[in-house]
Amino acid sequence: MNETSRPNLLIIDDETEMGKYISLVAEETGFSATSIDDTSKFESVYDRDISVIIVDMFMPGRDGVEILRFLAEDRFRGHIVVISGFDSSVLHSAMELANAHGLKILGALSKPILYNDIQRLLLKALDDFSSDDPTLAGEIILPTREDFIMGLERLEFEPYMQPQIDIKTGRLLGVEALVRWIHPTLGIQTPDIIIPMAENDGLMDELTYQMLEKTVNWIKIWKDAGLSLRASVNISASTIIDLSLPELVDSYLRAKKLPPGHLALEVTEQTLMGQLSTSLDILTRLRLKNIELSIDDFGTGHSSLIQLYRAPFSEIKMDRSFVSKATEQKEARAIVEMTVALAHKLNMKTVAEGVEDSATMDLLRELGCDVAQGYYIARPMPPEELLDWERARSGTA
Ligand code: C2E
Ligand code: CA
Ligand code: CA
Repeated sequence: MNETSRPNLLIIDDETEMGKYISLVAEETGFSATSIDDTSKFESVYDRDISVIIVDMFMPGRDGVEILRFLAEDRFRGHIVVISGFDSSVLHSAMELANAHGLKILGALSKPILYNDIQRLLLKALDDFSSDDPTLAGEIILPTREDFIMGLERLEFEPYMQPQIDIKTGRLLGVEALVRWIHPTLGIQTPDIIIPMAENDGLMDELTYQMLEKTVNWIKIWKDAGLSLRASVNISASTIIDLSLPELVDSYLRAKKLPPGHLALEVTEQTLMGQLSTSLDILTRLRLKNIELSIDDFGTGHSSLIQLYRAPFSEIKMDRSFVSKATEQKEARAIVEMTVALAHKLNMKTVAEGVEDSATMDLLRELGCDVAQGYYIARPMPPEELLDWERARSGTA
């Protein structure tokens, strides 16, 4: 059989023998398989056209979560299978993480892995390739770089606002600004499309400035309407090393005569680790200007206590992947509990994201978490709807 006509499959597992074993099954199932046992080789063998990637979640160096994140950022459209030797709950959250990133998860395998289990998943993949699912053929119409530049010029990017409330009192404290692109012909585009484009096309700074400026404008509008809120804006890795960021943020606030406490910047744990020395300088300058700093997706990266201690954060945002499971899974609950205790010891506030039901809300209250954000409270909404939402909720309409 001609090798090029076979769908290709990549296995990333630090156990060389495991890689060989899965390769064998894959070859016998009709794939052309490659396996690597060292994640540093990943970039050299990775190709966006790979049909199936099988990744071990726990490896030295770069772990499976980072690989998944890389694939999400690259908008990888192939199938993914995750494996691990740990208990099934770890696999389960890895799968949810991948789903949240819009990746196509075919299934999960826990070690020891049986021949039939691998084959069953791979046959499922083959079945999918032969059906004419348009999403698999990549026929979604995506905006181009030219569209993006035009969109920036026409100010088509909007900060959708998701409320954050005080868990003890129920009071609305602020919002997180989440980008949406109100595209004139393709409809509303979400961050899974927007963010990788902005990163790959070198337009992230421009996008962030637009988000910051528009968000600050809304804070002013709400303040004039009698609602004093704090808004958080997400800052990506490339922008956090932009030396002009502190002055720029300051200038937006001053233009609207707003004190700095109205704005917070969210930086992911991942970002911070990658750029620690440069970003520490900028983060410190932001903090000196009294801009609040929030560490995002906490629990998904590898920050140590030392790193947390060195960086001038005022708040920890606990990742949705374990907040959403805290009521039913003791491991997830333990992480939430420990994070709250740690944050309070370090004089930081805790925000739980992804709160989807009242049981989670009750548990967070019991554990002493400060702020909640999630679908249970509200989904991200167009900024012009926020005042009405708050009025309807607090009965002051
Ligand atoms: P994030 O910072 O972790 O933002 C939270 C995401 O979780 C948002 O997705 C939000 O809509 C979603 N979410 C909130 N509550 C719930 C819930 O209860 N359940 C579930 N299932 N999901 C919930 P969204 O808006 O699609 O944003 C995705 C990611 O894109 C954000 O994750 C953030 O990392 C990035 N992003 C969004 N806007 C910007 C931006 O302006 N700049 C940068 N650099 N990144 C952005
Ligand atoms: Ca965020
Ligand atoms: Ca987050």
